[in-house]
Amino acid sequence: MDNVLSIKDIRKDYGKFHVLKGVSLDIPRGAIFGLVGRNGAGKTTLMRIITGLAEPKSGTYSIGGILNTDRKILNNRRRMGSIIESPAVYRNLSAYDNIKLQYINLGMTSFDDIPELLELVDLQGTGKKKAGKFSLGMKQRLGIAVALCGKPDILVLDEPINGLDPQGIIQMREILLRINHERHTTILISSHILEELSKLATHYAFIEKGEILQTLSSVELMSKVRKASRLHVTSTELLCPVFDREGIEYKVEDDSLMDIFSDVTASKIVNLATSAGVEVISIADNNESLEGYFMNLVAKKDGIS
Ligand code: ATP
Repeated sequence: MDNVLSIKDIRKDYGKFHVLKGVSLDIPRGAIFGLVGRNGAGKTTLMRIITGLAEPKSGTYSIGGILNTDRKILNNRRRMGSIIESPAVYRNLSAYDNIKLQYINLGMTSFDDIPELLELVDLQGTGKKKAGKFSLGMKQRLGIAVALCGKPDILVLDEPINGLDPQGIIQMREILLRINHERHTTILISSHILEELSKLATHYAFIEKGEILQTLSSVELMSKVRKASRLHVTSTELLCPVFDREGIEYKVEDDSLMDIFSDVTASKIVNLATSAGVEVISIADNNESLEGYFMNLVAKKDGIS
């Protein structure tokens, strides 16, 4: 597969602290690739490295097939637009002038498509209003427009939905989908909220304590999320030994609620419950949440599951 960005065994230390412990990732062209990890997992550090803001201790990465150790990477960096930590916008300039300045910095001489770019990020009609007076969401969207000025193949966004209100999150999601669909820009986006990324990502990598726990496509993720049935019964305590004997995987919520993860028919559940003197009040689908799936992966790494 054609990868816009390939990361091979990247390591990074801060003093004695191993922040990245050999991270390898391939970002396929056209993907919206979600990098998911809790606070402190190493997402920003990895993004700082691939955007050239920090040097790895060891390991390599290539952008469009050019290795970071090759001098040609300096030109190829133009193939990458990014927002790391906060958007680089000039507070005293309007949205139009921020973009124009970036065009000038990139040596572009025609400003004809600036209105189109403003429209793409939903900032048309902001006129002379200075970016310093923008809401956080508007600043983020302007940052994205600035990052898109050089028509990059890949956009690297570090937690772009952090701090946005629900309306701002929806707007950001729609804009990123448009950028991906209309401009065919590959997007690498980090977040600690898997549920939010799941509305746009085509691929995922889960990172924890500087290590990639798993990479998979959204289709694979959806098929892996554990299917569960929630039982409402008169006693979970009496049912547990029966399920243990039958090898049925379960999780107890409280005295009367439990989830079972095995593929068991409703009639078998009722029969087993009856044999234990337990009444089944209801059985309903209660599939594992994406957040639950991720936390389960993390728990397995920590050896507590
Ligand atoms: P967050 O969402 O909180 O930013 P993150 O996944 O982006 O989390 P990083 O910012 O990459 O994580 O940080 C990873 C770890 O490295 C954290 O424990 C952080 O404290 C530490 N760290 C980051 N930058 C430095 C630095 N310059 N010096 C020392 N430690 C650092």
